[in-house]
Amino acid sequence: MAADQYTFEDPTKKYADIDTTAQYQEGSGLDSQLEETADRGEKSYRGTGRLQGRKALITGADSGIGAAVAIAYAREGADVALSYLPEEEEDAKAVVALIEEAGQKALALPGDLTDSAYAKGIVEKTVSAFGGLDILVNNAGKQQHVEDLAELTDEQFDETFKTNVYAMFWTTKAALPHLAPGSTIINTSSIQAYSPSENLVDYATTKASINAFSKALAQQLAPKGIRVNVVAPGPIWTPLQTAGGQPTDVLPEFGEQTPLGRAGQPAELAPAYVFLASGESSYVSGETLNVNGGMPTP
Ligand code: NAD
Ligand code: MG
Repeated sequence: MAADQYTFEDPTKKYADIDTTAQYQEGSGLDSQLEETADRGEKSYRGTGRLQGRKALITGADSGIGAAVAIAYAREGADVALSYLPEEEEDAKAVVALIEEAGQKALALPGDLTDSAYAKGIVEKTVSAFGGLDILVNNAGKQQHVEDLAELTDEQFDETFKTNVYAMFWTTKAALPHLAPGSTIINTSSIQAYSPSENLVDYATTKASINAFSKALAQQLAPKGIRVNVVAPGPIWTPLQTAGGQPTDVLPEFGEQTPLGRAGQPAELAPAYVFLASGESSYVSGETLNVNGGMPTP
């Protein structure tokens, strides 16, 4: 049998070290342009009906972690709506094809989440296309390293907060009237929420905000039967890292500081998002699931 996410293997050796030459991509970057291809589970993720008949909306689903989650959700039996930037159409098309190959509906929703009308509108579009919504994954993110606070512009600070925090607020608020008991919201935080890097001041601050937002909202929505949880990834090989997320000269060592000694792959995140979306996690809310190569967290 081909290897899948259930295969017994040594996690330190599961993936070869990413031997990336320093690479820089303009804009938000594309999976299709990564010099070392990322594993989004295309060849390995095996669904077992854990999200049969569910209807999901995932932001940033064109690439990286969001793409891996979209592929896994479709293989588990969910229809999937994808939000992404128009410039990422090429990546989005590939994910749409994989969702459809899994026998599920895909809905492509290109647009800019810093625009509140778009961030709210994707909910209505998903509901009209699928006849409902019961899984919302707020995963889109902006990360641009800046070494000196004096050089961190108001524009960047604003865009990082709009993309990572405001959009989550706008989309979640628009989704609430549609979410029946049993529905789940999953937000993407980061190890940066607890161990902020000196050159990611704005980004790390948004990631701590996402944890607090989620823990507060989880309590508010629990009586309604809606659960809110968080996945906090460590260093994961995605376009975000090559598009200004990290200085290019540190990329060859990316992830080697983790106890497991390597960067993670998007495919390794997907099972966490499946668990938090499915009824298996029915007594889990307000939780942050760290998928970070073994780095200690509070
Ligand atoms: P990625 O670049 O593949 O995904 C991020 C996506 O965000 C983009 O594909 C894009 O579609 C979307 N996005 C960004 N700005 C947008 C905007 N204005 N409007 C609409 N969409 C927009 O990278 P990724 O690493 O898979 O990132 C997914 C999430 O994981 C992000 O929230 C990121 O902060 C988080 N994260 C990543 C890492 C890592 O090491 N890669 C670590 C911790 C947390
Ligand atoms: Mg992308």
